[in-house]
Amino acid sequence: MGKLIGIDLGTTNSCIAVLENGSATVIPTRQGHRTLPSVVAFTDDGKEIVGVTAQRQAVTNPHRTIYGIKRLIGRKANEPELEKWKACVAYDITAAPNGDAWVSTRDGDYSPSEISAIVLQEIKAIAEDYLGEPVTEAVVTVPAYFNDNQRQATKDAGAIAGLNIKHILNEPTAAALGYGVDKSTDQTLAIFDLGGGTFDITIMKASQGVYEVLATHGDTFLGGNDFDQALIEHVVAHFKREHQVDLYADPVAVQRLKEAAETAKKELSTTTSTSINLPFITTGPAGPLHMRHDAIDRVTLEQLTHELVQRLEPPCRQVLRDAGLTTDDLDQVLLVGGMTRMPAVRRKVEEIFGKISAKDVNPDEIVAIGAATQCGIMSGDLTDVVLLDVTPHSLGVRVKDERMSFVISKNTTIPTSEKKLFATTRDNQDHVVIQVHQGENELVWHNVSLGQFTLGDLPKLPAGKVNVEVTFLLDADGVLHVTAREIQTGKEASVKITPSSGLSKDHVQRLAAERSAKIDASA
Ligand code: AMP
Repeated sequence: MGKLIGIDLGTTNSCIAVLENGSATVIPTRQGHRTLPSVVAFTDDGKEIVGVTAQRQAVTNPHRTIYGIKRLIGRKANEPELEKWKACVAYDITAAPNGDAWVSTRDGDYSPSEISAIVLQEIKAIAEDYLGEPVTEAVVTVPAYFNDNQRQATKDAGAIAGLNIKHILNEPTAAALGYGVDKSTDQTLAIFDLGGGTFDITIMKASQGVYEVLATHGDTFLGGNDFDQALIEHVVAHFKREHQVDLYADPVAVQRLKEAAETAKKELSTTTSTSINLPFITTGPAGPLHMRHDAIDRVTLEQLTHELVQRLEPPCRQVLRDAGLTTDDLDQVLLVGGMTRMPAVRRKVEEIFGKISAKDVNPDEIVAIGAATQCGIMSGDLTDVVLLDVTPHSLGVRVKDERMSFVISKNTTIPTSEKKLFATTRDNQDHVVIQVHQGENELVWHNVSLGQFTLGDLPKLPAGKVNVEVTFLLDADGVLHVTAREIQTGKEASVKITPSSGLSKDHVQRLAAERSAKIDASA
């Protein structure tokens, strides 16, 4: 077996890590950076570019520069949650024949798995350059709330990129593993993750290698971009007062300003004052204009972003309520995501939780470090750590009145098997349809449908007199086998539920072959 790599496939940035001599190390990108922007662009000369280079040309090629693809994974194009995102991006989001959200460019239509595959292919190449050997297997992290279909879409992305994703790990679990939570004691952790585009707060229990997600909450539209935007608006308004010119009318100026604002924001995490100087930012009636904004101090940034920081609080309060805990029950509060470097964010975390983890970890890298640690557990290189897998969501079947009857509850350690007895609801009912769903809602239509099958030829008896025993077996790979058996006759039917990304197996194989041919052609 070659080297297994750990990948934090993020909404805005991705990070790669590998276990070397027993400790997890971040693999730098070709430009020497420790994270790779999760951005893909299609250029006029038919090339696909990824990362910083794709990000840099976004302003001149907005319709063919794709970022934030993780927001589309496993979603339908007409979902209300996507409306906000559609308004933010310059590329087209369209519906595939099955209704899934895809990306449409003049180069073609792409499923989210295909775009993620382009990022993963770059990650694979970076890792191969670094390690000097082929890399074909990986552990990839996903948000704790991803359902089976979204997890499968991530696995498909790997398959298309020529990477076998051996394990999908929850991001907060990866953060806890990367942090090296003391496993000799039971610990309750809050994982506060504020990245470039999203905010997630998770409460977990770590007990002898079992990491159980107690509750998770967040805001999918709150992140570093919003902080940058607040600073940009301030600077644009200042420029307008000074020069009577609206910088928003000049897209190239806006792009330069975005980069400068982000840099200034980051600097203000360690210094109390900085400046934004952009010569020749635009042209006014009297010729070229320069931006000289000499004194932006931390206090100003904090005033401009006060509302954003306030928005971090309600999800934290809610997650504690959902977990049935108070801040006193928490042993650690781990910080994940680059934005947790901002002093105002840290202060807010301390104000809400009354504590913050003492150990200094890099919030951009901790999830990838955890993924690499999991690689070590799987390869047997790390023997003093164990991680037991749990089901992220409950599984059950549809019963009368569209209700969900839960068979396996979330956070059950796998492999596991559970049985439940059901009775017919009509006289002379000759068959039952077993519909399998995943989710926590009492009503099935709010949950995700995983599949269905029929058990026929039931004995014709009055309602309630025929009993069907349904068995859910969730194997070590997370594959669900469902069997229904009529008790009296022993007649049974079963199905193996395979989650779907919306792409068929053949389609994934075809895309993988096309990608690999592309690499051969460009080599
Ligand atoms: P992530 O998605 O975890 O990579 O987080 C990226 C976000 O963190 C971006 O919005 C960055 O601008 C922000 N970020 C990175 N470093 C810092 C820093 N030192 N201070 C404030 N924000 C930062």
